[in-house]
Amino acid sequence: MGRKYNPSKEKRDGSDATRSDLNRRRFLALTGASASALAIGSTPAVAGPEYQDVTDVSGFSCDHPQFTCGRQVRAADGMISTVDPIAGGVAARVLREGGNAIDAAIAIQYVLTVTQPHGSGIGGGGFMVIYDAESDSVEVVNSRERASQTATPDLYRHEGEYDQDIQTGEAMGTPGTVAGLETARELFGTRSRQRLINPAIDLARRGFTVDWFLAEQIHENTNKFNDAALGAYSDAQGNLYEEGDTMTNPDLADTLEIIRREGAEGFYEGPVAEDVAETIASYARDPDQVVDERDLADYDVTLDEPVRKEWYDVELVGQPMPSSGPTVAAMVLRVLEFLDVDEYDVRSAEKYHLIAESLYSCWADRMEYMGDDEFVDVPVDELLSDDYLQSRADEIEFGDTVFPDDGTMPPGDPTPDGRGAGETTHFSVIDKWGNAVSYTSTIEQFMGSGKMVPGRGFLLNNELTDFDAEPGGPNEPDAWKRPLSSMSPMMVMRDGTPEFTAGSPGGWAIVSATFQTILHRYVYDLDPLGSITEPQVYTHHFGGVEWEEGVPTETRETLADWGHDLDESPSTIGNVQAIGVEDDELVGAADPSRDGQAVGYDRGGLDRARGAGQGRGRSD
Ligand code: GLU
Repeated sequence: MGRKYNPSKEKRDGSDATRSDLNRRRFLALTGASASALAIGSTPAVAGPEYQDVTDVSGFSCDHPQFTCGRQVRAADGMISTVDPIAGGVAARVLREGGNAIDAAIAIQYVLTVTQPHGSGIGGGGFMVIYDAESDSVEVVNSRERASQTATPDLYRHEGEYDQDIQTGEAMGTPGTVAGLETARELFGTRSRQRLINPAIDLARRGFTVDWFLAEQIHENTNKFNDAALGAYSDAQGNLYEEGDTMTNPDLADTLEIIRREGAEGFYEGPVAEDVAETIASYARDPDQVVDERDLADYDVTLDEPVRKEWYDVELVGQPMPSSGPTVAAMVLRVLEFLDVDEYDVRSAEKYHLIAESLYSCWADRMEYMGDDEFVDVPVDELLSDDYLQSRADEIEFGDTVFPDDGTMPPGDPTPDGRGAGETTHFSVIDKWGNAVSYTSTIEQFMGSGKMVPGRGFLLNNELTDFDAEPGGPNEPDAWKRPLSSMSPMMVMRDGTPEFTAGSPGGWAIVSATFQTILHRYVYDLDPLGSITEPQVYTHHFGGVEWEEGVPTETRETLADWGHDLDESPSTIGNVQAIGVEDDELVGAADPSRDGQAVGYDRGGLDRARGAGQGRGRSD
């Protein structure tokens, strides 16, 4: 269970003098090659551009000799992996100026509020898993949205009108993102709020180029937009923005300026908070139960102890409850280890069978036992115990499925003597001191509730739809409770320091996308991009198996023979951003299913470019 943020905790200093350098080999020195040419390509061919220059960020270009951009890149002194090349460019500048990974992550999230409003924003919440090199510890800043302090278990019922319910005030949780960012900055950051929020203000004011994915989300979600959202996502002629248009959001620039001036208080108290509360109330079925000004004023993050589980010779670390994600990922990975998954080929029926079987079981346990641990006693230790996971592994065999004929996987009992598609964004940053951030952030569905706070330029989440619709279980709504999440910001640690970070959007599929990326990296020894692009499968306690292109036909036929109900056509599962730490360099990779890009920072790039007589890029 998390503890409350204590503002008196000493602020960290990010200066070189107080941090140990990773002492990485200056691998570029040997090559003399241009930075952008160093994108590496040892992975299967993927769709979409491998490399995109960024023209919207002043002072940043992928052609600058100190930066390297691509689907997968290597660099010595810093690495960023995001779904948005603009945010990646902003973050690279922060690193180059001496900011740390936490500073860069904060700048990314403020930018994503502007440039990728469909996936996350200041109207939502998230989980920021931080490895702090100075204290050699993992810290978690939990900014998950909360139900109002007057909510009851009957708050949110689907009533058979899901499309309507997701747009009600009852679906909108108290936003946590601004409190999370400002807390992280106070505790771990080294740069001023002004420095970290200015790029977002600039982009909202001056404009940025709309990518294909944002254009698609604008066009696909107009049915839930209110007038403010329709106005914000249309040009001066009233036409919805298209790919390649320059989009501005002056209202959002104004709101971010208030936060720049007043900090989190400028969001949670005063005119912005009044407008948020008024907007939520205007969409409420029962105005007495929804988030109001008092809830906004009372909101605070928690600092959580990460969940941890040994796995082969590394340790899996991530956000604990109220996210089920890393706990379920760790359960499945340990079950797969007990089942000797490493004996089977990466595209074999046996491997995918073991994954699906483990997921049916562990997902059934998620649904039975998991919820906000401030409210329910979640038996995490028991669920993660080797005895229990071995017993789950023992139920699985080849030639048949554990999935029952009646259509719902029953949970196990980890404590025999006691009680027992939506969207998001994930990004990772690692700096030259070894600080690491694995951050998954959301407004729940694409474009959240679709309701923008008039005059403020940002969308409100519909996160409370993550509660069970029917009361009675550990994830029923309640006053000031946080809905159970699947978000899985994770780090794989070796000897106590991060070796790999990963996470994904994708609702329940987040967990599958994240653990299979880790599986591919560690068990099948693929590079980070190969670990992301290697075809995955996804299922849960209701069964049915989604699969990605590349799962061989004969493998699917065997899986069907063994009792799995496979989709007829392939899906895209998740959108993973990952960073690997190797002995002497960082390897960033971004999922090619969208426009994501890794950006590497290398301090020695300028000298090498000059030495090689290339003379390209800006001077330092
Ligand atoms: N609300 C989801 C969760 O917390 C994340 C949004 C999504 O990707 O579906 O699990």
